[in-house]
Amino acid sequence: MSEFVPSLSPSASVSTHRYIHVIGSSVFVSDRIEIDDTPQHFLGMFGDEACWAVDVPHGEDPSYGSAIDLFSYFGRATEVEWAIAGRAVQLAEWGRTHKFCGRCGTATELAGNDRSMKCPSCGLLAYPRLAPAMITLVTRGDQALLARGVAFRAPMYSCLAGFVEPGESLEQSVIREVREEVGVEIDTPTYVSSQPWPFPHSLMLGFRANWLSGDIVCDPTEIMDAQWYRRDELPNIPPRISIARKLIDMWVAEG
Ligand SMILES: [Zn+2]
Repeated sequence: MSEFVPSLSPSASVSTHRYIHVIGSSVFVSDRIEIDDTPQHFLGMFGDEACWAVDVPHGEDPSYGSAIDLFSYFGRATEVEWAIAGRAVQLAEWGRTHKFCGRCGTATELAGNDRSMKCPSCGLLAYPRLAPAMITLVTRGDQALLARGVAFRAPMYSCLAGFVEPGESLEQSVIREVREEVGVEIDTPTYVSSQPWPFPHSLMLGFRANWLSGDIVCDPTEIMDAQWYRRDELPNIPPRISIARKLIDMWVAEG
């Protein structure tokens, strides 16, 4: 099974190409470029296969309707293929949103020597955006705290999550988010694993933490409901695509 290795240009051992056409935020994968004269971003090597993002201009659709969003692509592709497609969407979106310098407004150019856009006037560099977000499963004895966010589209209970603020550590971020969202105090969280989350450019950092004190008091602007659940009475939980589900499954397997 090949690994995907991100890089700036194809290696000498290229045998085939994988072109991930990014149409809006959906993807269409082909072994050839289906549209001319449009920006491309090299993604990296997947074994001997060179992977590219092809940024399809707004309003065009070389897939004739067969492009699928990343949520739907999960499950149809392997996990590594899904990650490559997520990288394609993120880099295409980065290219679209960094055409001009954020400081002086001059049109930017690809720097070439690294993954950045450079302003030829003032020299400002813009790298692909990556927003660290933490997610944590809080446990108390044989129960875990699961919450239904106000933004969830489906009636589903998940781990608590939030973006890391400038100036705080991941651990501080976890403690703050848990306190803000459900009013509960926890001990120092333990890092478990991470997952790229290209919706649109997050990096999810998964933690576990033990409850210390406090009853659940939801912040109604973020959390519709939160409860303590035993393993044998779990509510509707997130699908396998998410690290939230992995954190919950790991905990369930310990029981
Ligand atoms: Zn500039």
